[in-house]
Amino acid sequence: LTEVLENTTDYVSIFDAELNLIWRNPAAAAVFGPAPAAVAEVLAQAPRATRMTMTRSILPDLHSSGSWRGELELRRTDGALTPLEATILVHDSAGGDRFFSMMGRDITDRKRLESRLEARARHDQLTGLPNRLFLSERLETMLGVQRRLALLFIDLDQFKAVNDSQGHDAGDRLLVTASERLRNALRPSDVVARFGGDEFVILLPDIDSVDAAVPLAERVLDHLRGPVQIGPMPLYLTGSAGIALSGDVDATTLISNADAAMYKAKGEGRDRVAVFTDELRARSLQRLETAHLLRSALENQELDVWFQPIVATSTGRPIGVEALVRWRHEELGSIPTYHLIEVAEETGLIHALGTAVLSTTCATIAALGDDARGLTFSVNLSAHQLADPLLIEALDDALTRHRVDPQQLFCEVTESAVMVDVADSARVLDQIRALGVGIAIDDFGTGYSSLAYLQRFAVDVLKIDREFVTGLTLASDWKRSLAGAVISLGHSLGLRVVAEGVEDREQAEILRILGCNGMQGYLFSEAVPASDLPAVLSRLRQVRPELD
Ligand code: C2E
Ligand code: CA
Ligand code: CA
Repeated sequence: LTEVLENTTDYVSIFDAELNLIWRNPAAAAVFGPAPAAVAEVLAQAPRATRMTMTRSILPDLHSSGSWRGELELRRTDGALTPLEATILVHDSAGGDRFFSMMGRDITDRKRLESRLEARARHDQLTGLPNRLFLSERLETMLGVQRRLALLFIDLDQFKAVNDSQGHDAGDRLLVTASERLRNALRPSDVVARFGGDEFVILLPDIDSVDAAVPLAERVLDHLRGPVQIGPMPLYLTGSAGIALSGDVDATTLISNADAAMYKAKGEGRDRVAVFTDELRARSLQRLETAHLLRSALENQELDVWFQPIVATSTGRPIGVEALVRWRHEELGSIPTYHLIEVAEETGLIHALGTAVLSTTCATIAALGDDARGLTFSVNLSAHQLADPLLIEALDDALTRHRVDPQQLFCEVTESAVMVDVADSARVLDQIRALGVGIAIDDFGTGYSSLAYLQRFAVDVLKIDREFVTGLTLASDWKRSLAGAVISLGHSLGLRVVAEGVEDREQAEILRILGCNGMQGYLFSEAVPASDLPAVLSRLRQVRPELD
């Protein structure tokens, strides 16, 4: 046995009943020095953590169970610390003497690997920046010691478009460039982390006022801004930043405050800074509440769908109907539809909402019977719905269940929804068309208005935005020529053109002269509940407006 102990590369030490070191095998002696020695001396050399382990874990365990197993660090004679995986056992000899053995194995390599893995877990592999985990831990620590700081939430503008159109490699290179630019904009003590996707979070310690934070944020965006040569065409990189200042909120709230401010910056036109304010705070609270109520409204089928007629410009007779969701809450009253849609998109409830609207619309078509003949019914699809793999199934299902002719159904999608993922949208729009359902581009003229894309998509109708109709008078030449240009553009692409937001006769008359095919707006009817639709339709079918 002694021979085994003498020759093993594990470190073996024997202690007497008073815990004095009385023997060490050659491997241990070579590294930690020879026995005998007082244990107090050994411990005095050891790091504090090891001494704590001794009193808190080793001694109690030996006392209660006669053994201990764990990790320790001991100081070598050359001064370095060696991490050990150790087993300590209590032995009672036949003569009644008690002694202790300790077997230790050097785990330096394992520890090194562990710390590398740990560093890896806290850093983003692509950019080398600290990641979300690292950031949350650092933020918690800083807030824990009441250190004031400003948190910047930065989102690259149009990143998704680059990623989708130029491929993931291009996207990756953009992210690396962005991370270098951000890093260069700041002091080494500032934390720049990749929060996920194209989102970056920056911690600015000791910045505790908006006045100090805004110029810093603007400087960061300045550094970020500029062309990036990826592929044949240089891309122009910009970002939007939201600022939140630490106060009495926790780490998660601070991040989501800065995120809300970032969204505000995006909404105000991108490539700019916005600050989290009380007003935003109220809004995000309100949003949470709305989201909560919306969920139960969907479960209880409390949403309504109202219908607004679309008329032929030449005759004033109805040619279609647009389905618009409506929500009236007992206490909150009527919730503006744009707000409802925004909340539904943020919370993922848009899919359930979309399915409900689709189903109600098809049920209404079926119920209208002859009244619906010759009319197309449009539902609105948001970007999230376009990206939903179950969309086609939901459409097919609603049509089949209510025995609706697919030719009677239209989907309205905005340009910006389509542009989120061009390749994917083209595929989905083709699938919608394959069902026999028509497609209209909604709010045309407010988004990218890229003709190249329009040609690629299987589109039937262009709905020109209300913006082109408001202020359309016989006196305003430029408004008229602008609207005219958009209408003939649609025609040149072989599309029918419908104008939205027609509120007076003068607008309607100009649109007729300009050759617009359809019109929709308060002049003809607001959106009405399904029960009122037959009456509205028959009014529009009978009355010949004094248009022609
Ligand atoms: P949109 O598709 O552009 O719908 C037209 C909006 O203009 C409707 O607002 C309609 O009530 C309003 N409008 C119609 N005629 C006139 C007019 O003559 N003058 C003025 N000032 N406004 C007029 P609404 O219902 O508040 O809807 C807002 C937006 O919400 C819609 O814009 C659409 O993008 C979205 N939306 C509505 N229902 C749904 C839905 O079921 N699903 C989805 N994904 N989005 C929907
Ligand atoms: Ca629409
Ligand atoms: Ca529209």
